[in-house]
Amino acid sequence: MIKFTHVSKKYDNGTMALNDVSLHIDKGEFVFIVGSSGAGKSTLMRLILREDVPTSGKIEVNGCNVGALKRREIPYFRRSLGVVFQDFRLIPNMSVYDNVAFALRVTNVSNKDIRRRVPYILSLVGLQGKARSMPDQISGGEQQRVALARALVNNPSLIIADEPTGNIDPELSYEIVDLLNEINKCGTTIVMVTHEHDLVSQFDHRIVQIEHGQVVADGRIGGHHARK
Ligand code: ADP
Repeated sequence: MIKFTHVSKKYDNGTMALNDVSLHIDKGEFVFIVGSSGAGKSTLMRLILREDVPTSGKIEVNGCNVGALKRREIPYFRRSLGVVFQDFRLIPNMSVYDNVAFALRVTNVSNKDIRRRVPYILSLVGLQGKARSMPDQISGGEQQRVALARALVNNPSLIIADEPTGNIDPELSYEIVDLLNEINKCGTTIVMVTHEHDLVSQFDHRIVQIEHGQVVADGRIGGHHARK
């Protein structure tokens, strides 16, 4: 599903953000990417999303050689992924419903399918009662669930979440990961960047630790699931 082969990324100012990273994430996995600030996590995510290109090495996502994508192919490639950002990136003057529907409209899905699919996804994330609310009328945790609904609505086989719990409190963070767990159980691959060690330790998922641009640990810590 995601394959990094000897990937390095050196920025123009000489910073080596990733240094010879080889990483393999299989279909259906749930992987946490952890590491200190400046370790290279965001760079790794940007490379997966083709927001940037590596200096050397090869990146494959969903069988697609990301580095070989043509400019006009990039939007289609991104739409095949579900992406959740730390700052939610909701459209402020659109209702919860329209924020989610918008992600479908840009892919030419019929109105009939939109009317069917959006309520279903909103109920999946527990927001069926908030469809008409505007983003500033709901809590941070609810906003993040809208962002998650928007990432899910196109039925992506891969969800990329970059610090999705960075702006919400620990209890709600746990709920978001729980929701991602449910989605993962249906076969969707999840890659989630986080710096929250407490959160990661509560789930028994693969943890890839990056420091100084390199993978320094990769495995499970045998987390427990005690809080629910
Ligand atoms: P993390 O997400 O783990 O905090 P980043 O991938 O953002 O780490 O950064 C890795 C390293 O690359 C850091 O030293 C950071 O300062 C540097 N860096 C990130 N983006 C750029 C950029 N656009 N230009 C130059 N250096 C960058």
